[in-house]
Amino acid sequence: MSFPADLTTLLRERFGWDSFRGEQENVIRTLLAGKSAFALFPTGAGKSLCYQLPALLLEGATLVVSPLIALMKDQVESLTRRGIAAARIDSTLTDDEVAQVIESLRDGSVKLLFLSPERLASRSFRKHLRAINISMLAIDEAHCISEWGHNFRPDYLKIARLSRKLKVSRILALTATATPAVAKEIRKNFRITSACQFHGGFHRPNLRLSVEACTAAEKDERLLEKLRTHSGPTIVYATTRRDTERLATMLQKHGFSARSYHAGLTPEMRSLAQDTFLNNDTRIIVATIAFGMGIDKADIRCIIHYHLPKSIEGYSQEIGRAGRDGDVSHCILFAHKPDTKTLENFIHAATPSPQSLRNLLDRLLRLADPGKSFAISPYELSVSLDMREETLRTVLAYLELDDIIERTGNFHAYFRVRLLRPLERVLAGYPAREKNRIRSLFAAAESAYGSLHFRLYEIAGQTGIQREQATEIITALADAGDIRLEQRGIREVYTRSKTTTFIVAAVIEKMIARFESRASFEFERVRMVMRYVEARQCRPRLLARHFGVAAPKPCGVCDLCLGGKPIRWRDETLPAIPPEEWQQMLALRKEDHAALGTPRQLARFLCGISSPAAYQAKLQTRDEFGLWQHRDFLDILTMLEA
Ligand code: ADP
Ligand code: MG
Repeated sequence: MSFPADLTTLLRERFGWDSFRGEQENVIRTLLAGKSAFALFPTGAGKSLCYQLPALLLEGATLVVSPLIALMKDQVESLTRRGIAAARIDSTLTDDEVAQVIESLRDGSVKLLFLSPERLASRSFRKHLRAINISMLAIDEAHCISEWGHNFRPDYLKIARLSRKLKVSRILALTATATPAVAKEIRKNFRITSACQFHGGFHRPNLRLSVEACTAAEKDERLLEKLRTHSGPTIVYATTRRDTERLATMLQKHGFSARSYHAGLTPEMRSLAQDTFLNNDTRIIVATIAFGMGIDKADIRCIIHYHLPKSIEGYSQEIGRAGRDGDVSHCILFAHKPDTKTLENFIHAATPSPQSLRNLLDRLLRLADPGKSFAISPYELSVSLDMREETLRTVLAYLELDDIIERTGNFHAYFRVRLLRPLERVLAGYPAREKNRIRSLFAAAESAYGSLHFRLYEIAGQTGIQREQATEIITALADAGDIRLEQRGIREVYTRSKTTTFIVAAVIEKMIARFESRASFEFERVRMVMRYVEARQCRPRLLARHFGVAAPKPCGVCDLCLGGKPIRWRDETLPAIPPEEWQQMLALRKEDHAALGTPRQLARFLCGISSPAAYQAKLQTRDEFGLWQHRDFLDILTMLEA
């Protein structure tokens, strides 16, 4: 296939722009030459064009993996506006709609498909993909592959492997933030040569970076002062959900228009916060790092970090949201040393204890013989082991990467059915045998509050009808409009590899080592944030160096360039635990909650680390939750074990 030498004409005709920006053209030419590429451009630099334009020229389809439905929507809309046919597949589509999308990719009427990593990882979906010639796979926000904590998505780990299974001929990885080490990991994963990695520069001259040391007691006053001096849309980042709520309320009391945003809010509350911020009805969003990715607002004037960010990468993503319109914007970081404890405690929380990994793996690996499958509910398992669901999913993803298990499907364990017509009327048109089967199926259901509950696990024992058949019968009734069906209790099915042999103890040791090395990497990232705070020279330069970009000239406008003194931490050490807090802990322990039964569980709770069991027992609204959030988790644990 030959491509027009003059890509600029195509750029003008299809996208309406006169020239490429930065390294865009180099990335595009690399891809058109049949090679994989890595685009490391700052936010707003125009990464999307790097797959949009080649997608038009390549013969087959381009798949774009994206972490957020909102990002996919924006992309599809903006492409459609340009007359480029693009589609997305997400959980809101019905099976028929999915089939339609696949068909239009197959016949070439749609060139670009956006989808989530989870969708790509689903085996039933990949079956559809076999019919399609995939000429390129783009991975947007590729740093999610190595992110940890809130942003981590275990299915991102699997993309590289899947791309090989799908025999994709070229890969494009895209991100705004990757250190040289992370970039190398991504390149290795996707087999991208270093010659095909392109940096889009880093410096954003309109961002004014500064760091201010303050004590815990000073912070609120300082925040108010900043919000009075700097006008315009502002994001205040805080570490915990609870802090975002407290601060939003505090700001409202002082007459500011502010709302909180975190992953614990209902979807309605989250959209309300986001929408009112986008249309300027809310000036200030006080948020955890859950807020921001995919927020397309050009005039954010101020980003304030009320607590230390968890990594330089995260910090760069967060401040990168300011001033996309190019106007001067302020990025202010409050530096308070004990905040690092909260960050470290989050790392402890994401790191399962060796004992809990042993329990989990022992259980999982004994659930099925080689070649056989087993079903689990990650949610229920996470509550019963008191291990975060995300951690559990990471373990499952690693087992998949080691070819020990493979996710092969899922089903629902419970159906709740409401008959829209009396059963006998529904059955009127059926042959006698079928009638009897459906009757016996319905006789096995429990009725409560006008609905019927089916426990699909037990159905076969009660009726002789297999779970799969029962599912088929009931969904057919729903499709026919005879019943209203709610499916509950998702079960994931995994199949043990027939060929991979292993020693359970070795798998366990390897898994423990993986989580430990992950944790030490994260602790190191917190230390880098501290080094950034303590810096003696131009801040944007330091950031550039962190990301392996040739250092720009001193920015001339950050606090240090403007002659500010390097930061001296204030009130570094916390006083000893006051007796009344100690009494509070003792009283809580006396209450004997199962969710706080072990010293580790109690220590996690007091350090403000959420856990599935404590959450289910609704304990996290209590005052003692996070009582010692600024104290060292391991110290607290040792104390409670004594
Ligand atoms: P990123 O993903 O790197 O954050 P986007 O791909 O969303 O950035 O692009 C940011 C903005 O720049 C978009 O509005 C896009 O349309 C615009 N843009 C991209 N490439 C060019 C170009 N060559 N000339 C002019 N505008 C461009
Ligand atoms: Mg983008």
